[in-house]
Order: sequence, then C-alpha cells, then structure tokens
Amino acid sequence: MSDCIFCKIATRAFPTSFRYEDDQVVAFDDIHPAAETHILIIPKQHLEKISDMQETDRPLMGHLLFAAKKIAEELDIPGYKLSLNVGPEGGQVVMHVHLHLLAGKMSNPAGEVG
Ligand code: 5GP
Ligand code: ZN
Repeated sequence: MSDCIFCKIATRAFPTSFRYEDDQVVAFDDIHPAAETHILIIPKQHLEKISDMQETDRPLMGHLLFAAKKIAEELDIPGYKLSLNVGPEGGQVVMHVHLHLLAGKMSNPAGEVG
C-alpha cells in the first residue's frame, strides 16, 4: 500500500531503526512511547486489521507473536504487555496490523509492567 506509513517503514522508504527484522516482520520503537519500552511489531505484508485476517494469515500472526517473544528475550525484559487495537472503534489509528510490546514504567498512570 503506497500511502501506508507502516508499509513505508517496512520497505525502508521511510528510514527507521529496526529493533528486529526477519523475512516476515519488522519491529521498531513507537514514535510516541506509552512506556519505557514501546515497540511495534508489524508484518511486512500489508494487512489492515486483525478482523481482516484470513485462514492463510494464521502462520504470519503466529510469527508476529513469536517475534515479540524473541525481542523481549533479546532485550532481557522479564514481563511485558502485548496489545493489538482492532479497527478505529477499537482504538486502531494506523491501519496496518501492529502488535504493541510495552514494558517498564508506563507514561500514563495506569501502572507498570516488566
Ligand atoms: P494504534 O493506535 O493504531 O494501535 O497505534 C499506532 C501507533 O503507531 C501509535 O502508538 C503511534 O504513536 C505509532 N506511530 C504512528 N505513526 C508512526 C510513525 O511514523 N513511526 C513510528 N515509529 N510510530 C508511529
Ligand atoms: Zn501497510
């Protein structure tokens, strides 16, 4: 998708420092971190939202989750939150699937994880 910011990030059309990359996903710091550690993990393939997932996307979504686990291990984060906003009504602003990995002191007073 040419007008999708996360597609641009994934293809390096918009330079961003990656925390993690493999053949299917990339991960990078959120531009407005809600916690000490706030990483977004996205599929390289454009998929708008989780509710658009097809049977064929199952392995990719598992891969996304597994990447989160690997990143947390690499960063030595013992505990964290993973969240997915689904659709504008679910708080999703960027319409390209992304998994939020949040750890450490939260920027809002909701609490701390990790
Ligand atoms: P959503 O509310 O859609 O689940 O979360 C979108 C997230 O993407 C927000 O936390 C926002 O700060 C982040 N974000 C939006 N645009 C950019 C960008 O250009 N670069 C980075 N690194 N993060 C972005
Ligand atoms: Zn996209």
